Order: sequence, then structure tokens, then C-alpha cells
Amino acid sequence: MTEIKEKKAQENVQEVAIVGGGPAGLTASIYLSRYKVPHLIFATEVGGFMNETDKIENYPGFVSISGFELSQKMGDHAKSFGAEIVPEQVEKIEKEGELFVLHTFQKNKVLAKNVIYAVGTISNKLGVTGEEEFKGRGVSYCATCDGPFFKNKEAVVVGGGNSAAVAVFILAEHAKKVTLIHRGDLPTCEPSYIEDMKKNPKIHLIPNANVVEIKGDERVKSVVLDREVDGSREYPTDGVFIEIGSGPNTAPIKELKVELNEKGYVKVKADQSTSVENLYAVGDISTNSNGFRQIITACAEGAVAAITIFEKKRRSAKK
Ligand SMILES: Cc1cc2nc3c(=O)[nH]c(=O)nc-3n(C[C@H](O)[C@H](O)[C@H](O)COP(=O)(O)OP(=O)(O)OC[C@H]3O[C@@H](n4cnc5c(N)ncnc54)[C@H](O)[C@@H]3O)c2cc1C
Repeated sequence: MTEIKEKKAQENVQEVAIVGGGPAGLTASIYLSRYKVPHLIFATEVGGFMNETDKIENYPGFVSISGFELSQKMGDHAKSFGAEIVPEQVEKIEKEGELFVLHTFQKNKVLAKNVIYAVGTISNKLGVTGEEEFKGRGVSYCATCDGPFFKNKEAVVVGGGNSAAVAVFILAEHAKKVTLIHRGDLPTCEPSYIEDMKKNPKIHLIPNANVVEIKGDERVKSVVLDREVDGSREYPTDGVFIEIGSGPNTAPIKELKVELNEKGYVKVKADQSTSVENLYAVGDISTNSNGFRQIITACAEGAVAAITIFEKKRRSAKK
């Protein structure tokens, strides 16, 4: 395994700055390295959402692999080709003339000719009292990461889609009781998940209910529902896992005024270019791949952005 190369962000001009170290950003880096295009990756972790995935069973070459392991493998692959990772989060990207200026939360500033924006999505918030206060103290958005802390405890999962169902099964491996609180008569996840939930004595379902408040002292103690369950609107729990989908993460590029679609994802052409010259968007944040947000499509888009930049550079060198 190659040694991790971490480079402090410096105030010099980079050919390409990749923002985000998920599968899209790491693949863009692998291809740029192969094309000998210098670049930096801003990433506080390698692997992105893959790290939150228990098992991946649809990425070719691996019948079944943990998300953490695939993250490490992709990170090592990128690093072995010379990827330079700046372990900082980009707060804001501006454009000054031809160049992008990337400001990090750690107060560094980097100039770049091209930016590959690969930040993925962020988990939707419930927006209820107590959610922010108890974040990290019982409120979580990642069952894979925090499930093991619930050994012999009780947890609720809020949501009804496939992500919520997966979170329920992960938690049921650790917790003594897991309750899925969902809005309709039935969760909207795949029917086979519902069948499996009903077979598991640890798993309980509360239909037709919304969480309106999260309460606790040092840590979460209960959730308040908008209807009574067993004679009370307060439902005791040690933790709340919020699994109500995710949305695009465009705050850092707000000032660039890049064109977005009606759902807020960055509009891209087939070559991953955006409405802002030399800004490319790849992976879950982009509108490509027919909106099919998966590891394989994220990797593909990262590769396409890299070849686009390489070809453009080659053409301008010929002039
Ligand atoms: C629970 C779950 C299970 C899934 N299971 C599968 C599966 O089995 N198979 C499959 O193919 N897909 C699966 N997916 C989808 C897959 O994980 C995503 O499609 C894929 O990870 C998207 O890659 P990405 O690189 O675009 O973004 P991400 O993986 O989200 O990576 C983006 C990275 O950018 C970082 N970042 C964000 N903002 C900044 C910033 N301002 N500065 C620097 N870095 C930043 C983030 O921290 C993150 O590390 C799953 C997703 C979830 C949530």
C-alpha cells in the first residue's frame, strides 16, 4: 500500500481541483493521474457515501464487499497513482477572471484552472426541535456508522424508503428493539423488506405517524409523535436514525450561479461540463446517468470529466 500523501493547501495555481473524495472524485483522480494532469483532491475522508453502506453487491468485480473496504481500495488505488489529498473541506468557490478560488473551512485558499465538483448529496433533515441539539448524542443519519453503539439498546428509524429499511436491519443486528416510524399505512420500501421486518421479533412498525420533537437530557430519551401510540404521544428510545432521503449539496458553489435543475442538482452536458466554464460536476450531484445515483455511475462520470479536461488541455496546447 502506498503511503498516504497529504499536501497542505497552498496559494498556488492548480491545474485541477477535485472537491470530494467519494467514488466520483477518486475515479476522476485516477484518470487524471493516468493522463498526467496535475491535480489536488479536497477530501476529509475517502469513499464518501460508500463508507455508510454495509454491503455493496452490485459493483462489478466484487460479489460482496463492505462499503468501508471498497472505499479503502479506491482510495489506495488513487493514492498509488499519486493522488494528493488535502484533508480539508471546501467552504466556498468563487471565480476571479479565468481562475477559481477555493476557500476551505480551515482558512486555506487555493487557485485552480478547473474544478471537478464531486461532493455528492447531504442527508435531509427532519427539521424538528431537538434534532440539531441531540446530533451525535442519539440523533444519527448513518446506521452503519453508529449502529454498533446500540448494543442492547432501543432505536427508532424515521422514514419508509429502502434506506430506512436497510438502517432498520443494520440496527436490528445490534439493538434489542428497533422501531420504524413511517408516514403511510405501509413503508414505501421494497415489499420483500416489509416481509422480512414482520418476521423479525426485534422490529416494530408504527404507521401513519410523524416525529414532531426529539427529547432528552444528556442524550436522546424519547421522540414525540403526532398521534398516540399505546396511550401516549411520547415514545421512549435511546436513539433516532433519520433516513428521509438526501438532496444536492450546492452551498459551496452558490456564488458561481451555475445552472441547476428543478430539484437543485447541477445541470451537466454529456462531457460533465456545467454552465460555468471549466467547472465540471460528477457523481450524485450531477444530472447525468439518467439520475441513477450509484457507485458505478459516479465512477463513470468522474472518468468522463477527466478525459474532457485532458482533451481540452491537449487541444489548447496544440494552438
Ligand atoms: C445507505 C446507502 C446505501 C447505498 N448502497 C449502494 C450500493 O449498494 N451500490 C451502489 O452502487 N450505490 C449505493 N449507494 C449510492 C452510492 O453510495 C452513491 O451513489 C455514491 O457514493 C455517490 O458518489 P459521489 O462520489 O458522487 O458522492 P459521495 O459518495 O457522497 O462522496 C462525496 C464526498 O464529498 C465530500 N464532500 C462534501 N462536501 C465537500 C466539501 N465542501 N469539500 C470537500 N469534500 C466534500 C463528502 O464528505 C463525501 O466524502 C448507497 C447510498 C446510501 C446512502
